[in-house]
Amino acid sequence: MELFRHPEPVDLSVVIPVFNESANVAPLLARLGPVLERLTPSWEVVFVDDGSHDDTAAVIAAHHASEPRIGAVSFSRNFGKEIAIAAGLDHAEGRAVVIMDADLQHPPELIATFWERWREGNVMVYAQRTDRDDESAMRRGFARLFYRLFARFGEMALPEGAGDFRLIDRKGVEVLRSLPERARFSKGLYSWIGFRSVGVPYQVEERQHGSSKWSFRKLFRFAFDGITSFSTVPLRVWTYLGGAIAGIAFLTALYFVADTLLRGPDVPGYASLIVSVMFLSGVQLMSLGIIGEYIGRIFAEVKRRPLYVVAERIGPAAAGHDRPVRDDRRAGRRARYSGVA
Ligand code: UDP
Ligand code: MG
Repeated sequence: MELFRHPEPVDLSVVIPVFNESANVAPLLARLGPVLERLTPSWEVVFVDDGSHDDTAAVIAAHHASEPRIGAVSFSRNFGKEIAIAAGLDHAEGRAVVIMDADLQHPPELIATFWERWREGNVMVYAQRTDRDDESAMRRGFARLFYRLFARFGEMALPEGAGDFRLIDRKGVEVLRSLPERARFSKGLYSWIGFRSVGVPYQVEERQHGSSKWSFRKLFRFAFDGITSFSTVPLRVWTYLGGAIAGIAFLTALYFVADTLLRGPDVPGYASLIVSVMFLSGVQLMSLGIIGEYIGRIFAEVKRRPLYVVAERIGPAAAGHDRPVRDDRRAGRRARYSGVA
């Protein structure tokens, strides 16, 4: 972190979003520290405290007191993991930045492999889970469906089983930071930026303490966000569906006209009438809902609110050499990365 005034540039940063993880911080650092130390003495750990209600921040502060290379950015409230990752990337200084979970589901030892692959010239090294045994069949099924849908409708395919556990070279980090969107679907963004990438297989471990913060509703929302962030197909599909339904309606009308002329008027038919009215109103409401999703997204973007609000930084940040606000920095970055912005 710049706020720690490193005498030399940092080689390796580890960004860890934490939300009520106080029981996991110590076991995580106990395993992570030796791994980092073996790779380079020039490392830092950037915790992003995503508005924890427990004493996560205090636990991190205690570790900072004995190891200044450990620091934290604390949000003013819970902003969600995606935003916490964005904040971590904003504050990490390393030439290589690793993103990992705090619950020890991501084995820290894998970072040594990331490091090797990175030194071979990969900008992105992602961990790829070999099985999803820890998840329910339903969750697995939905995950598979999501990847299929994304590959079909998104701009690019996502590597299956790859999550946030990865190493990103500074080059990639700067491009990610230059992406201005507020609705952040990082899995998609990682792929969108391109660059030379490689997957490293791994086994997901059991969560150490506490429980997963993802409810099914949240996951559905997440998947929906992912697809609507990267595809306009859900918007456009209604044109075709509408056309098809109108075509069928027209043919049916022709049939009714012919039928009436040939066989005389026919009073029954309320059932088909009700069914078609209901069907069409359903389709219309759905299409309106989809349009609403995108308009909501546009609204969120045009408000131009900052991505997150920092309440506190652990480390010499209190002395006042704060980083400038995100948008100012973005203006500077735009000049540097004009090819991307
Ligand atoms: N997390 C976060 N903000 C949230 C939810 C989760 O920063 O609103 C962090 C959490 O502390 C953990 C990581 O994101 O370090 C992954 O969360 P979790 O283990 O609940 O997700 P899962 O492993 O079930 O996908
Ligand atoms: Mg977890």
